[in-house]
Amino acid sequence: MKRIWVKETPQQTGKQVYLKGWIEAKRDHGGVVFLDLRDRSGFLQMVGGRELKPFGEGDVVAVEGQVKLREKRFFNAKLETGKIELAVSNIKLLAKSKPLPFATHGLGYDINEETRLKYRYLDLRRPRLRSNLYRRHQAQQLFRQALSKRGFWEVETPYLSKATPEGARDFLVPSRLQPGKFYALPQSPQQYKQLLMVAGIERYFQIVRCFRDEDLRADRQFEFTQVDIEMSFMDRDEVLDMAEAVITEAMEAMGKKIAQKPFPRFTYAEAMEKFGADKFDLRKDKKGQELAFAWVIDFPLFEKTATRQISPVHHPFTAPHPEDVQLLDKDPLRVRSWQYDLVCNGHEVAGGSIRITDPKIQTKIFSILGHSRKEIKEKFGHLLEAFQYGVPPHGGIAIGFDRLMAIINGEKTIREVIAFPMTAKGRTSVMAAPTSVPAAQLRELGLRTVKNRR
Ligand code: ASP
Repeated sequence: MKRIWVKETPQQTGKQVYLKGWIEAKRDHGGVVFLDLRDRSGFLQMVGGRELKPFGEGDVVAVEGQVKLREKRFFNAKLETGKIELAVSNIKLLAKSKPLPFATHGLGYDINEETRLKYRYLDLRRPRLRSNLYRRHQAQQLFRQALSKRGFWEVETPYLSKATPEGARDFLVPSRLQPGKFYALPQSPQQYKQLLMVAGIERYFQIVRCFRDEDLRADRQFEFTQVDIEMSFMDRDEVLDMAEAVITEAMEAMGKKIAQKPFPRFTYAEAMEKFGADKFDLRKDKKGQELAFAWVIDFPLFEKTATRQISPVHHPFTAPHPEDVQLLDKDPLRVRSWQYDLVCNGHEVAGGSIRITDPKIQTKIFSILGHSRKEIKEKFGHLLEAFQYGVPPHGGIAIGFDRLMAIINGEKTIREVIAFPMTAKGRTSVMAAPTSVPAAQLRELGLRTVKNRR
């Protein structure tokens, strides 16, 4: 007999069916035993006699039986299969389970998170997380569709690469063949997507992992996912309109209501004056389901860091506002940029800019940021060289996909929408990396560990 999914059983009432899945719960009433069967599609109550007694929570089984209508007083409106049950005629054990370390049916927020992540493969059995994963999958397909439809190509860029400054520390990967040299994992594909514009791709996107070694917070992980976008021959407003159309289409297809269309736009100065911050929540009802998007534009190009150094507010490839270019030498902190951020319900969910394409201005920005001529050549020579071969005007944006998923699923942390996130202390789920490695492996890489002096 062909196996069907639990969610297909209501249409099979009266018929004999064959199902496979896990025992979710057991209620033993002596002569009558109830087992709940769970597969990816849902739950179904199964009923039988003594032959069900040996089975317990977590066991994997194959069952045959007849789908029967329940007595009316036992209808369960909360379940899609709440009007039926399976009268088991045959059950076979496929795999036995140890007692589970925690229940997998509730919401799970009250369970210690380290434990949940140690057994993430069990935690993911809970319907809330399964639904988060499914909706993430749906949203990825919808973004791909919305972008492809508008002529964007998904192009993959390298993970083993050279440092791309986006304001965080790099993760380094030692090279075995060139001992003492290192690759850096990309903080974003920023330079590659700009090189793709020089290559004439015109419209690029990628659902891509980015790596940043920074302090972990509820909305930060060492690795996270962006919907990364870049386009040529468009001015700022055209880029914003395009991004807005894509996000609106994907989010509406996810069933979300957008509070205000088109998204309101505030300059950075207006936002600071009105809200005291560059992220703000425009929802009237803060608990409501709607998404209140707004653009923030005209950011300052530079800011002073705690160590009183000048650093870019976005990244060093962001174009200065043309009206302010003449201020670059005299008063760089007053220069506005062509950066834009997208906020949603109080969070920053996307950011981007029109890029510098004039090698002279790009060099000037690097030197304002304190790089010597030699450093500029070493670190960014490839980009400056590429820009000498006909670079189209271009700009783009990256959507913080994990954060957007947390918002649309009503989750407080991005860990709830990532299959295998890191713990708050930076250990990977299940495998508990980072770990030590054998001395031989270090030797092969030309590395030696020294006592950490911190
Ligand atoms: N690379 C930028 C970021 O990761 C986004 C962009 O400017 O397109 O924030």
